[in-house]
Amino acid sequence: KEKNSAEPEFLQAVYEVFQSLKPVFEKNPEFEKKYLLERLVEPERQIVFRVPWVDDTGKVHVNRGFRIQFNGSLGPYKGGLRFHPSVYIGIVKFLGFEQIFKNALTGLPIGGGKGGSDFDPRGKSDSEIMRFCQSFMTELYRHIGPDVDVPAGDIGVGGREIGYLFGQYRRLNGGFNNGVLTGKGLTYGGSLVRTEATGYGLVYFLREILYHHKMTFIDKTAVISGSGNVAYYAAEKLISFGVKVLAMSDSEGCIYDSEGIDLAYIKEIKHIKRESIEGYTRYNPNAKYMKGKGCVWSIPCDFALPCATQNDIHLEHAKMLVDNGLVALVEGANMPTTNEAIDYLKLHGILIAPAKAANAGGVATSALEMSQNTIRYVWTFEEVDIKLQEIMKKIHRSAYEASNQYGLGYDLVAGANIAGFLKVADAMMAQGNF
Ligand code: NDP
Repeated sequence: KEKNSAEPEFLQAVYEVFQSLKPVFEKNPEFEKKYLLERLVEPERQIVFRVPWVDDTGKVHVNRGFRIQFNGSLGPYKGGLRFHPSVYIGIVKFLGFEQIFKNALTGLPIGGGKGGSDFDPRGKSDSEIMRFCQSFMTELYRHIGPDVDVPAGDIGVGGREIGYLFGQYRRLNGGFNNGVLTGKGLTYGGSLVRTEATGYGLVYFLREILYHHKMTFIDKTAVISGSGNVAYYAAEKLISFGVKVLAMSDSEGCIYDSEGIDLAYIKEIKHIKRESIEGYTRYNPNAKYMKGKGCVWSIPCDFALPCATQNDIHLEHAKMLVDNGLVALVEGANMPTTNEAIDYLKLHGILIAPAKAANAGGVATSALEMSQNTIRYVWTFEEVDIKLQEIMKKIHRSAYEASNQYGLGYDLVAGANIAGFLKVADAMMAQGNF
């Protein structure tokens, strides 16, 4: 704890996992003897580097780049890159730590890693973004590879950025090793469904929860924080299942549309024009814009989907959601709910789909992209979508079974941690003490 005291997000993520593992350690004392937890919390490798770039006026800027290769016991390190001014080592470590268990849960051969930079892409021109990505990759390329470490997107890193990063990797590395990055465009090795996968996967996971409790999507409402990649495709799938999405947000505020959000407007404002979500009211003057963080959680709904960033739902939001009749919390973002808020929601019988399990569809589809790159083949949309649905079903089952096996009933938060941990622990023990 002392060693990492300047990294509160990392400590929060570790504490959350360790709480769930208490019954596992009681049953398996050899894990403690082999110092498994001590080894798990220390990344195998941390790379921190300078990213200098020149803006359109000729001014030089210097950002900091990170890549954390956290745990490679199951396969090549795998995890996204985040470009956001809030990025520092503690954020990258919390994300990398969570990624270990999430990747294990997918059942696919991928280890855990994460990276990014404190670069702020907002308000930057296309050429500035390109120059930044090229500079970032000029250092990163020597640390990654299809069998070593395979980055993807995250906040601030979408298809455009992955394209620029891959272009620079190809220039520096030679050859056409497109298995080195996932989330690529379809013309150079990207997989169908990858763009939609995290959002769709969330809703497939929620469907499993509802089946389990003999409930349906009919006549249900949802609110979603964020309006980026995960939020958008979660909304699209919910709407296709008949759910009314009442509100979405961005980092400045939220819009509430009692008729149900029109995603064509969201696409235009957030994904094409890249401006504030307030612009939605230009298209639909009946919609209401509210400024401020967390305003989206004041709107009554059956399903709450935090799909923006970490620590988005605090205790006071959880209380509001419960008072307003919430049925399920489905975590699209990583660690979007504080530990106190999770405890409160659990206590009040809210069904919880934890991020490690519920948002694993993105990385799972990235692993499917890696498979297609290796065999130099392209699966159809339907083929990938069916595999994604199967994977989400299996993740739900393994989280539920793990929680049941340890006498915790239907606790997917603990179950996901336990199931992911057991797989990694097994591989680490088998590979010896390092
Ligand atoms: P995007 O960059 O596409 O979208 C992020 C959204 O969150 C935007 O609406 C952004 O608003 C909002 N946001 C960002 N930072 C903050 C903040 N500090 N406070 C409030 N809102 C904020 O990212 P993604 O959709 O890809 O990722 C969203 C979350 O999902 C992240 O936690 C990510 O780690 C997680 N995730 C993503 C996966 C993927 O496949 N992309 C896979 C698994 C998890 P604005 O437009 O104003 O910046």
